[in-house]
Amino acid sequence: MDPVILIAADTNADVLRSEFERYQRDYDVQVVREATELLAQTHRMVRTGAQVALVVLETSLFGADDVEQALSTMQHVRQIVPTARLLAVSPFDRFLIDNEQLRTGQLQGALDALLLVPRGARDEEFHVAVTELLSDWGSTVADPEVEAVRIVAWPDEQLTLALRDLLVRMGMPHRVHEPDSPVGREVIAAYDGPPALPLVDVLSRGVVAVSSVRELAAAFYGRPDEVDQDTVFDLCVVGAGPSGLAAAVYGASEGLQTVVLEAEAVGGQAGTSSMIRNYLGFPRGISGMRLAQRARLQATRFGARFITGWEVTGLTVAPGREPHCVHTDGGDVRARSVVIATGAAYRKLGIPALEELTGRGVHYGSAMTAAREMEGLDVVVVGGGNSAGQAALHLARFARSVTIAVRRTGLHETMSRYLIDELDSNPRVELRPCCEVVDGGGSGRLEWIGLRDTNTGEVTPRPCAGLFLLLGADPRCNWLPPEVCLDERGFVLTGRDVPTDRWVDELPPESLATSAAGIFAVGDVRAGSMKRVAAASGEGSSVVPLVHAHLDTNSD
Ligand SMILES: Cc1cc2nc3c(=O)[nH]c(=O)nc-3n(C[C@H](O)[C@H](O)[C@H](O)COP(=O)(O)OP(=O)(O)OC[C@H]3O[C@@H](n4cnc5c(N)ncnc54)[C@H](O)[C@@H]3O)c2cc1C
Repeated sequence: MDPVILIAADTNADVLRSEFERYQRDYDVQVVREATELLAQTHRMVRTGAQVALVVLETSLFGADDVEQALSTMQHVRQIVPTARLLAVSPFDRFLIDNEQLRTGQLQGALDALLLVPRGARDEEFHVAVTELLSDWGSTVADPEVEAVRIVAWPDEQLTLALRDLLVRMGMPHRVHEPDSPVGREVIAAYDGPPALPLVDVLSRGVVAVSSVRELAAAFYGRPDEVDQDTVFDLCVVGAGPSGLAAAVYGASEGLQTVVLEAEAVGGQAGTSSMIRNYLGFPRGISGMRLAQRARLQATRFGARFITGWEVTGLTVAPGREPHCVHTDGGDVRARSVVIATGAAYRKLGIPALEELTGRGVHYGSAMTAAREMEGLDVVVVGGGNSAGQAALHLARFARSVTIAVRRTGLHETMSRYLIDELDSNPRVELRPCCEVVDGGGSGRLEWIGLRDTNTGEVTPRPCAGLFLLLGADPRCNWLPPEVCLDERGFVLTGRDVPTDRWVDELPPESLATSAAGIFAVGDVRAGSMKRVAAASGEGSSVVPLVHAHLDTNSD
């Protein structure tokens, strides 16, 4: 059954029907003419197991002024099918009014986009927006039709989930097949090594056995020791979050021979964000993962080389014109300049019983892949920051209930107003203030947690299938040598913040330069940084002229 695009329109029903004809090859496009019919049809679709990808609602269906009714219909649709993307379309003569009046609803998540009804043929801007919504739906909800990678493994195992997480973050369409399924048997037969699971059928590279995420990453990007021994890069970027990706795009585009070393998948913290709404130039928001995938592609097109799955374990700072040496367990990489872009890592809960269930119901970060598995279940998000708010909203698309647990009395001190409003208006989300998670367990998977009331000290066990921990983050600097000065919290000092005894000729280093010549720091890892995607990518691009200047002064 093709996924459904459901259009509810009146005046412009024929226009919209004809505009959506181009999607008919892949989607079942249906048009209804009344709001009640829309709700009935949505119910029917869900009952019959059809996947509703997109609901399009013409605002004039409700008469000139009835924005409230349009919003409540949208909210109703969202309750019936929370995973569908919702698009409101306005006729030309009321777009400005709708835009004004629906803005609050849009901020509260009642709809995903508001567009003008196309007024002529080939309104590609309209279709770009529709395609973005469908593509976002496809990458977070639908089972991929294209299988670039086939994993043969038992679906519930921790390693399987970790492999899937990597592939999702790489934007690689894949599917898991059980070993005794027809595809499973076919892949096992094609593997010519000793019996092993998981097996991964990687694009044209054949079937490989993988025992870690790193081995899967290596199958795509190679290992550090595959770099030619004599190669000295102009620029080695450590970390591929937004700051490292920006440094890679700008560095490579300006002719620097650039390598990026990344411990996990590209995207960093931003890569775990379901929807970044405040990044310049994306009025409908963009998922952090997709932003990162695009940036990686962009950097690769300019010639940057990515090696992922290898944590950098050390750095040997070389004097004068000698290249610095960046160490990993899979070999060293030499470069004349190094950009530290290792960002920050999630704080741990530190409760052994729950740490043991990491990946099996307990997740750090919004865990995009795991969110889909929470369908119909009760989940708890711990944390009061924007990342926790975004995670809760994303999870509410799948889970039956989402409880946000915070120690404080509310969210207003720690979360943006627009997210608080969106959470308030989502019936599946509940806030539980003044409490903390102190215990939990389950047989093989998380089944319950213990919540302590911070006022009374009373601990209450409650059923919980998914615990999503967004507890803030600490800088990832344990690999840095003493030549690179850190502040008391472990963030890298740059520019005027570098201790004066490390200044040269009584002059501070350049703004993004550290205390070691040729070593720079950008993004969240840098002391005093803003901890936002735009700031991180801004610093990643701003560092490149400084790298150029360093290379020019230190060239033979
Ligand atoms: C869930 C969530 C939602 C967010 N939403 C928003 C938002 O809506 N808007 C906004 O502006 N900001 C948002 N942020 C904040 C934003 O994501 C960060 O400010 C931004 O990602 C920082 O980028 P960065 O490149 O400095 O570091 P990071 O994103 O932390 O990336 C660092 C990278 O370095 C890698 N790394 C670390 N150590 C090593 C090592 N030793 N060797 C190799 N690689 C290493 C990590 O694996 C990681 O990929 C959000 C953050 C989270 C967690």
